[in-house]
Amino acid sequence: MSNEINTAPKESVNFIERFVKEDIENGVCDRIQTRFPPEPNGYLHIGHAKALCIDFGMAEQFGGKCNLRFDDTNPTKEDAEFVDAIREDIHWLGFDYDKLAYGSDYFDTCYELAVKLIRKGVAYVCDLSKDEMREFRGTLTEPGKESPYRNRSVEENLDLFERMRKGEFEDGSRTLRAKIDMASPNLNMRDPTLYRIIHMSHHHTGDSWCIYPMYDFAHPIQDAIEGITHSLCTIEYEAHRPLYNWVVDQCEFEHKPRQIEFAPLNIAGTILSKRFLRRLVEEGYVSGWDDPRMPTLCGMRRRGYTPGAIRDFLSRVGVAKTDSEIDPAMLEHCLREELNLDAPRIMVVTKPLEVVVDNYPEDTTEKLSLELNPNRPEQGSCEVTFGKTIYIEEDDFCLEPPKGYFRLAPGIEVRLKGAYFVKYVSHETDENGNVVRVHVTYDPESRGGNSPDGRKVKGTIHWAAACSSVDAELRMYDNLFRPVSEQTESSDGSENAAPDFTDHINPESLTVLKGAKVDTAFASSKPLEKFQFMRQGYFCTDRDSTPGYPIFNRSVSLKDSWGRKK
Ligand code: ATP
Ligand code: MG
Repeated sequence: MSNEINTAPKESVNFIERFVKEDIENGVCDRIQTRFPPEPNGYLHIGHAKALCIDFGMAEQFGGKCNLRFDDTNPTKEDAEFVDAIREDIHWLGFDYDKLAYGSDYFDTCYELAVKLIRKGVAYVCDLSKDEMREFRGTLTEPGKESPYRNRSVEENLDLFERMRKGEFEDGSRTLRAKIDMASPNLNMRDPTLYRIIHMSHHHTGDSWCIYPMYDFAHPIQDAIEGITHSLCTIEYEAHRPLYNWVVDQCEFEHKPRQIEFAPLNIAGTILSKRFLRRLVEEGYVSGWDDPRMPTLCGMRRRGYTPGAIRDFLSRVGVAKTDSEIDPAMLEHCLREELNLDAPRIMVVTKPLEVVVDNYPEDTTEKLSLELNPNRPEQGSCEVTFGKTIYIEEDDFCLEPPKGYFRLAPGIEVRLKGAYFVKYVSHETDENGNVVRVHVTYDPESRGGNSPDGRKVKGTIHWAAACSSVDAELRMYDNLFRPVSEQTESSDGSENAAPDFTDHINPESLTVLKGAKVDTAFASSKPLEKFQFMRQGYFCTDRDSTPGYPIFNRSVSLKDSWGRKK
């Protein structure tokens, strides 16, 4: 699958661009106006970023504008908290919207247009319950049945609709429906609901309304009013397009927006749906919407993703009409590429083992200079402190080294990065026989890690000085869901229980390493600061850090499984 992905940069023309070009050439429109219409019922995820890139990308490419419009026509699920978060995420990705609007801004107009449709005899108030309506609707193979309320007079419909608005009826007791065709092969055209009764305060309009328009009615109206030329959305709306066009036509809008559908982003092993992400948060599987394991933009930001890496990824994914599942390794690849270029390299010892340099003078320390980033000389260098006691990685010492082991071991000399050559002398163990301290000698002539006499060492390892480092916490992340191959049917083992996505949660998606050692020079880095921890991976400072106790999130490992597969 991953091999089929277009890895060429942005330029190739996609089908939406072709449609837009045609419309411009044929004089259908002389400028481009798009919109991004999120429902404020959760935080944006990377799938939304795809829609954002397409909506803003098309507008920008053809010299047009893109509006942000909150689709807040359903008060039961929405919240102002999400409105602010969505705006922040859009700005963070680097997009500037033209007009900011709310679906609810158009409630008056929607109401007037509903009255217009009643007057035209193409909408009616229906008293069928939800269940009855479903029954009357028919199936893909059988036509539906007409509602007994379908032929109410215009006067009766006007009266009932007005009383719906005034709050005389209970939730669910009546709806306003379009009168289209109960035998249409498209179920969406079988007298779809235009308005329903919901007695609930709305986060934007308060208690002004107790009837709310359906998305299928409100959306084309909003698009038409805003002069949207191309209403770009995901493929599940394809079957709604005839209804979209019906609404625009019946409301007699002169401006006719064109709906074009594209395939949603799917990433293997990840769930891109606010409803599911919300469950992860509410049921405590993650620490919040911005948990670094979440595919939300705020989660990815906290994990260390950059807008550039996300946009690069989406341009490689491309725009197509048919569904595909993207390998998450490609997303990591894009981040790694960017961080490899930009992230300063620092030494952090993740699982420390104490090393005493026997021949280094007591009570002496010295500053050594290390280049921060060979790809970005302008980042300069940093000063780290060296002393008699240092830490190295537990894994960088071995008493009985296998063949090909070039790190510290009896008989093997190694370079401490940027410091000195050291040689094993002895070690101490605890009562269980575990090595707790290693003694070495250093060659003062090898300062800076340079060979004094041309003698070669094969291994270079990173370190931190005891006198100048603090404890740090490292949060290592894995997929939130286990790979399909490791998944079981359901948690209780019964065959009949419907498998739930929570059965597939990876219990090891977060590993916390405490007691890592980082030079004090980096102990108070700011949240979102990004680093390459030499030989360990790319990390970014977490907002939970406190002065003197830094916490880092591993953004991505150094190894690139995507690059290898290519
Ligand atoms: P969710 O199921 O996650 O709540 P949604 O479609 O209900 O998704 P909206 O807030 O309505 O979320 O989405 C705003 C826009 O983002 C819509 O135009 C929608 O088509 C688009 N979008 C949502 N999910 C994806 C995705 N996975 N890939 C591309 N675009 C998406
Ligand atoms: Mg939606």
